[in-house]
Amino acid sequence: MQYISTRGNTPAMSFKDAVITGLAPDGGLLLPEHIPDVRERLDDWRSLDFVGLAKELIGLFVDDIPRTDLQRLIEKAYLTFDTPEVVRMVEVGDVHVLELFHGPTLAFKDVALQLLGRLFDYILDKSGEHLNIVGATSGDTGSAAIAGVHGQPHIDIFVMYPNGRVSDLQELQMTTYEDENVHCLAVEGSFDDCQGLLKELFNDLEFKQRLHLGAVNSVNWARVLAQIVYYGYASLRFSSDVRFCVPTGNFGNVFAGYLARRMGFPIEKLIVATNENDILAQFFHTGVYQRGEVRFTSTPAMDIQVASNFERYLYYYLGEDAERLDTFMDRFASTGSAQLDGPPQEEAILATSVATQDLMGTIGEVFRNSNYVADPHTAVGLVSAARFASRGTPVVCVATAHPAKFPESVCEATQKDTVRHPALEALVRKPTRRTVIRPNLDGVKAFIEMHARQR
Ligand SMILES: *Cc1c(COP(=O)(O)O)cnc(C)c1O
Repeated sequence: MQYISTRGNTPAMSFKDAVITGLAPDGGLLLPEHIPDVRERLDDWRSLDFVGLAKELIGLFVDDIPRTDLQRLIEKAYLTFDTPEVVRMVEVGDVHVLELFHGPTLAFKDVALQLLGRLFDYILDKSGEHLNIVGATSGDTGSAAIAGVHGQPHIDIFVMYPNGRVSDLQELQMTTYEDENVHCLAVEGSFDDCQGLLKELFNDLEFKQRLHLGAVNSVNWARVLAQIVYYGYASLRFSSDVRFCVPTGNFGNVFAGYLARRMGFPIEKLIVATNENDILAQFFHTGVYQRGEVRFTSTPAMDIQVASNFERYLYYYLGEDAERLDTFMDRFASTGSAQLDGPPQEEAILATSVATQDLMGTIGEVFRNSNYVADPHTAVGLVSAARFASRGTPVVCVATAHPAKFPESVCEATQKDTVRHPALEALVRKPTRRTVIRPNLDGVKAFIEMHARQR
């Protein structure tokens, strides 16, 4: 399988190159040149467990890693989860909640980043190269990325986060690793400052090449690919088509569901569930894609205005026409707004946005009625699931984080004293390691240069 860019100006490349490249050089996002149709395999695939399905499905998209090697990487990635099923389906009232948070950092990002970390290690080991991964995080992504690559000989990881503006738990999830390849930079500034620094680092081509900088952000194709598996797996647990409800920020998670549907898994519709940052919900209602000011909510992982993976969806919506896509994205980049001729004619997707007070009410209600504790992000999905209940169609709500990651909101909504998870409690006693740094490009470059173990 070869990979092409949504902007059409990058030569097709292999899977391994796509993994290491991340963003295409023409500024586009990488996609497989065709989407395999799996309908004839579904009967056989129903009997597979999660890891078994992952091997089959991911194998369709990878032809430059020997099959047994790929299978071993997949097995190892999911051994880190605290349940042998990897993901778990729980009945909560009329809704099936698909828990994706059984990995090491208790958020769904582990499903992709545990595999991506092992793919990096495998590819670099073969090529003899060293990669310096640099990222900026407002919370969840940094810890999941570190959990995917800590201790690896071919990678150093540098994560910038705004000092004092991530939760104590989120900071502990990053700063308690003892591995010498993990470098946490507490930047004296905002998340925007961190992202600005990251952009500048990657725009400095001399530095980028000399230090062999790599990224793990949500545009990496392997992340999307790993996420397709749980949509396929969950859909095969039912005897009819299912509807998925997906709390959405960067559109990465729900885009994987969209691809699962295009591959032929029995998925009726996908519900794009946003918080008050509703640019995506607006797009699906009106066809207008317009940036606004970021609003800070109790679902920080979804406080996003410009969803990086949306471009992949739009590429398909526009008939795989890279030129039309380029025009749309250019207009959006220069004016902050671009639009279709009218509301999108999209049968696969419904969309809605959820206010904080509604999701808090739902966390309380679900706890009282079903004795289930949902995290705020998951609750955005639960509110949306109720809005789009459909007779006869099972609804699966994707649960993206364990509630103990967001104890303040969860305790307030449920009137519980505490929400716990042993993995988080263990962190509190561990020593921490981090460097406080000013939001200054030269300072960050000097730090990376000094601490990168090899180039
Ligand atoms: C990252 C994240 C999301 C948003 O996922 P996208 O792929 O960006 O749409 C939702 N919930 C939690 C808990 C997350 O960490």
